[in-house]
Amino acid sequence: MTAQRGNNAFRIPDKMKAWVLGKPDEIRLTEKPVPQPAAAEVLVRVDAVAICATDLEIISHGVPAKIGGGLPFEKNFTPGHEYMGTVVKLGPAVDEYDLGDRVTVEVHAGCGRCERCRQGMYTSCLNYGEPQKGHRANGFTTDGGFAEYAINHINTLVHVPDDMTDEEATLVVTAGTSMYGLDVLGGLIAGEGVVVLGPGPIGLLGVAVAKALGADPVILTGTRDARLDLGRKLGADHVVNIRGEDPVVAVRRLTNGKGVHFVVECSGAPEAMNQAAQMVNRGGRICLAAFPHEPVLVDLAYLVRNNIYVYGIRGEGQSATHRAMALMKQKRFDAKLIHTHSFTLDELPTALKYARERIDDAIKVVVKIPH
Ligand SMILES: [Zn+2]
Ligand SMILES: [Zn+2]
Repeated sequence: MTAQRGNNAFRIPDKMKAWVLGKPDEIRLTEKPVPQPAAAEVLVRVDAVAICATDLEIISHGVPAKIGGGLPFEKNFTPGHEYMGTVVKLGPAVDEYDLGDRVTVEVHAGCGRCERCRQGMYTSCLNYGEPQKGHRANGFTTDGGFAEYAINHINTLVHVPDDMTDEEATLVVTAGTSMYGLDVLGGLIAGEGVVVLGPGPIGLLGVAVAKALGADPVILTGTRDARLDLGRKLGADHVVNIRGEDPVVAVRRLTNGKGVHFVVECSGAPEAMNQAAQMVNRGGRICLAAFPHEPVLVDLAYLVRNNIYVYGIRGEGQSATHRAMALMKQKRFDAKLIHTHSFTLDELPTALKYARERIDDAIKVVVKIPH
């Protein structure tokens, strides 16, 4: 560890490099003042930041980012939410972290005062997008990690062990989202069948987390063999390429006709909800962690008759990121397998292009920031 703990060893400049959103699909590198941490906050020197499909959505369409109650364009807003770094300055009375601590971050700091935040559901904060009430969602409603420094509430920090690389640490929040999906399904998945639909980053790490928690069997469905092979490496007992076999038939076949107790839907495909319903057994549970872009027809009568529960999740609530880190720290799965490309901060537009066009089979593209 190069940083020194417990003293003011970090020279912090007044200005930093930061990418900001201009018009839709326009992102430019500029200089901003380095922000100052308030009470219960720290200044994080961003060392690495992963690109997420949601970043691409925000840069093109604005939503789900929201600045000042509206779209985030031309507001000097810095996106980027899957970052990690080093604590370089403490806000007043912060003693939970030391200077030099390596941390990875959760996206959402709830307001801490609304009913949902009090229940631990801070990703569904009722004061979402109201920073004056204490809410932050970095890269969504407050400045994010495509910059040299970022402010974080201490509740959003997770310690990174010394033997974990910066790149791997950027993936913890993705695993945390997968973990939260399993949490809302009830958490007790050891010995239960879990189907994950869609081998994107959340689906692939959903497989890994489900397996690490003892799910049996874990089945992954998708359309690309390379991704499905990766799913196998991350713990899937069975993979189904839906171009070759109907996924409902396949799940019934693999479970001797019984179906599974849990489905985590990470594909966003319009037909996924009805398929998930056919994959679970009576009383089964479905978590929706992705969404189609258009409204879809759902056979509600089937859900009612079969007592099927459906949950939605947004992000990484209930401290799931801490539990995901616990599994990764114990090397229960190798999240690094989904990291495919690295670029520097100056190369962000190229990094975004790799992620958007999946150039060279890109899955997780990470931007490294040397200091
Ligand atoms: Zn993300
Ligand atoms: Zn709240």
